[in-house]
Parts: sequence; structure tokens; C-alpha cells
Amino acid sequence: MSTPQSILHEVFGYGQFRGPQQAIIEHVTGGGDALVLMPTGGGKSLCYQIPAIVRHDAGHGVAIVVSPLIALMHDQVGALHEAGVDAAFLNSTLDWQAALDVERRLARAEVTLLYAAPERLTTPRFLELLDGLHAQERLSLFAIDEAHCVSQWGHDFRPEYRALTVLHERYAGVPRIALTATADALTRADIVERLQLQQARQFVSSFDRPNIRYRLVEKKDPTQQLLRFIESEHEGDAGVVYCQSRKRVEEIAQTLAGHGINALPYHAGLDAAVRQAHQDRFLREEGIVMVATIAFGMGIDKPDVRFVAHLDMPKNIEGYYQETGRAGRDGQPADAWMAYGLADVVNQRRMIDESPAGEEFKQVMRGKLDALLALAEATDCRRVRLLGYFGEESRPCGNCDNCLHPPAVWDATDAARKLLSTIYRVQQMSGISFGAGHVMDILRGKASDKVKQFGHEAISTFGLGAEYSEAQLRGVLRQLIATGAVAVDAAAYNTLKLTDLSRAVLRGEEPVRIRESVAAPAQHRAKRER
Ligand code: ADP
Ligand code: ZN
Repeated sequence: MSTPQSILHEVFGYGQFRGPQQAIIEHVTGGGDALVLMPTGGGKSLCYQIPAIVRHDAGHGVAIVVSPLIALMHDQVGALHEAGVDAAFLNSTLDWQAALDVERRLARAEVTLLYAAPERLTTPRFLELLDGLHAQERLSLFAIDEAHCVSQWGHDFRPEYRALTVLHERYAGVPRIALTATADALTRADIVERLQLQQARQFVSSFDRPNIRYRLVEKKDPTQQLLRFIESEHEGDAGVVYCQSRKRVEEIAQTLAGHGINALPYHAGLDAAVRQAHQDRFLREEGIVMVATIAFGMGIDKPDVRFVAHLDMPKNIEGYYQETGRAGRDGQPADAWMAYGLADVVNQRRMIDESPAGEEFKQVMRGKLDALLALAEATDCRRVRLLGYFGEESRPCGNCDNCLHPPAVWDATDAARKLLSTIYRVQQMSGISFGAGHVMDILRGKASDKVKQFGHEAISTFGLGAEYSEAQLRGVLRQLIATGAVAVDAAAYNTLKLTDLSRAVLRGEEPVRIRESVAAPAQHRAKRER
């Protein structure tokens, strides 16, 4: 009789389970539901492949694997065939005859694993097949890969995933395992809710990728900065450069190529054949730099990507983490490099504001953008921040820019105290909270219409921060928000509120330090230099 252990050795040829694999595999093999959070390269596939094989051998029939990525299906089914496992896929690349053939074998429960795209799964024809299998108790397992696609809060929402609730409702009793490499607390809760996995056991691995060195630099002349980064540290290496727009992808690919770098463009505006050719070259040849929009990367399993560069700021930390996670899957040192600037922030904000989404959605998106910004402006360990975002505590890593070269900082405690007391006083005086722009206007002594309308010129901090520019105060505010000393009330037009942590800053007990490059006012610099 086959056991998870024997399958690991005999079918996959591995000596040992990795991390939480054994616990997950035993739980699912035994018929339990599971939600698995494991970083890219952690070994998620075995977590459903081995239960599928063991359960098939025990007469439980076919495991259905839901995957949004056709390329990934092909790779996995190919690898399973090589290992002697009977696997198949159903997707749009099959012609009518081939699909019919797979369906016939499926109906007889001959295959051990069947991979299908989510939109296929919920077609009447496919459901009928599943009904037939279910009636004979020949559905062994449902595996839902890239489970974050079910959440509108995730960075890759796919509406087809919503319909997967049918699995639970129509085929109750068939074990389900959902897997993802990227989900913050909100996305996680949404997955549980949407897929009705309240009873599922959660397996949360460490998200740390210790071999990736994080570096976030302020954008000055981004193209030159990127060139310098690649030429001085990654000559001849494979890498990915992410840009915001198709136009920029083209420009950057050309510039890099003009400097002798083996760069290729990739974006959704290119012909499918060209995209495929570029992707194949990236996978097969050495030292190709793919300049791409985020259309590139999902399901690309290339172990020796030595760097991932972001020339524009992504939307949120989940996206950033997923994209940078494509570097260094082989465990060897790799760089995650990002250039960010105020314009990025303004752009991302505008995209949120102008999107047709509802107000609640926009507030969540703004909050996520702010968290990424806080990461960019952090003066302490990037990894501690990054992991903290995913709910994981850690110690300074010694392998990020801030750990290796602690940034120069200026003491913004005074500015912070003035901001906090302004937030406090407007609330006291008017009984309601106000947003960042208004608070900064008061502190800088700007008698805007709104300031006049509320009589806020009378507040004792009015004009007390005239020496600070708006950008400087924004830097300080972002820092306060990032450290929790100010709360942004998303439900009330992003107004600012004090928190339990504000008091220590107000009393001057908690120094506030800002990256020099971001917001050092001239007089502070001068003072220090003297
Ligand atoms: P993920 O889907 O989490 O990104 P994969 O399932 O693709 O990760 O696994 C990443 C790599 O690790 C694959 O090459 C896989 O064969 C390998 N792997 C997984 N589990 C083990 C193990 N227990 N021992 C050795 N290699 C493993
Ligand atoms: Zn660090």
C-alpha cells in the first residue's frame, strides 16, 4: 500500500519532506481540508500531488487541480508523466478530439490528477462529469492553486474563482486544499470566507526568503540608476525589470539592449507568438533580462533569476513580494531592487481615485499603498517590515540595504509632535477629524478656504511648522502612520486620528527618525553640519 513517504521516495525521488509538507500531506490524505500559505519555491505542488496519488491508489478516484495558469499546467502534467503518474489537463489549448479523450478517461476515473482552469470547472458539461464521479465516490480531492485569485483584495483577482464555492456546496465531503504564496491578513480572511474554508486547518509557513537582498532607492535618474545596478552587480545575469506601462517596457528594453545587455520586452500588447518566444528564450538561454509589465511572471519557474528590479512602484506589498519572490528560487544570493519616487505615489493614488471601484475598495487600496510606502521609507530592517506585514515577527536580517548601510536620518521628533498636537487640537475644537492636507495647512500657517471656514487659524499650532515643506511633513506623517502613532480612518474620508502610541511621541519619549534623502529640511541639515 502506498504511503506519503513511499510516494515521496519512489515517485518523486526525494529523501525528505520539506518544512510543513509532511503535516499538510498527512492531513489532506486523511481527508481534511487545508489552507496552505507557503512562499514561492516552498514546495506547494507536492502538498496536493502526493495526497492525490495515495488517495487514488486507495480507490478514491480523481483529484481535480484548479490552476489559472496554462503554462504551469503543462509543466506540471509533463513532470508528472515523467514520474510515471497519470495526469491530464483540460484547457483551451486542447482540440476537440483531445478534450473528449481526456473527458472519457476522467469519467472512468482513470487519471490520478486532472488540471483544469477555473472557468472550465464551472461549465455544465464539466459539472456533469464531476457529478458522475461524485455519485461513485470517485472524487478524491480538490486542490485550488493560487487561491488568492479569489479575493478582490489580492493583487490578482479573477472573478472565475468566485464560482468555486460550487465545489463545497455540490460536492460536500470531498477534501479541499487551497494554496497561495501571497496573502496578507485581509486577503487570507477573504479566501477563507469566499471558499468557505472556515473549518480548514491553516498551515502558514515563514514567508522569509533569506537569500534575497532587499534594496529600495529613491528615484533620481531611474534609467541610469538601473543601468548602473545591472552593469556593476549583475553583468551577464538573468533578471526581470518590472515597469508600469507598455511604453516604458519598450523604452527600457531598448536602452538596456543599447548598452549590450541581453534585454527583451514582454507585455500584453505584444503578439502572443512574440511573448511566447521571449518567454522561451528567458527560460532556456542564460543571462536574459526580461523587461516586463506585471503580465509576466506568474508560473514562471526559473531557478537562477539573480535580480528583480522595479523601476516603478508596485501597487502594494503583496504584489511587490510576489514579484521579488521570483528571484533566487535556487537559494543562491539574489537582489530585489526598487526605485521609487513621489511621482509613483501620486500616480498610484490617482489610479485608485479614478478607478470605477466603490469607496470601501478604494480605501483598502489606499491603505495597502501606504503600507508599501512605509516599507520604502523605512529606516530599519526591510525584512522585519516585510514579514511584519504578513503577520510574522523577526529580527533585523543583516541582508538588506538598511541593515548593511544604515541610512542617514534626521530627527523629526519636533515636527512629529507639532503634527500630533495639531491633529489633537482640530479634533478638540471642531469635534470631527480632518485629513492630512488640512492638518498640514494649519501647521504650515496656510489660511486655506477650509482653514478659514472652520476657524482653524485660531489653533495654537497654526503656523508653528512654517519651516517645514509639505513634502517634509508628508514624510513625517507617513512615518507616523507606518509606526502606528497616527491612524488613518478609512471609513471617514482618510481622516487622521491619534492612537495609544501617539502619547509617547507627543511627550517626546519616542524619537521620530526620517530618512535623510526623503525629507531633511535645510536648517536641520545646517544645524547638524555646524
Ligand atoms: P511552489 O509551488 O511552492 O513555488 P514547487 O512545488 O514548484 O514550489 O517546488 C519548488 C521546487 O522544490 C521544485 O523543484 C520541487 O520539485 C522541489 N521540491 C519540493 N518539495 C521537495 C522536497 N521535499 N525535497 C526536495 N525538493 C523538493
Ligand atoms: Zn535587514
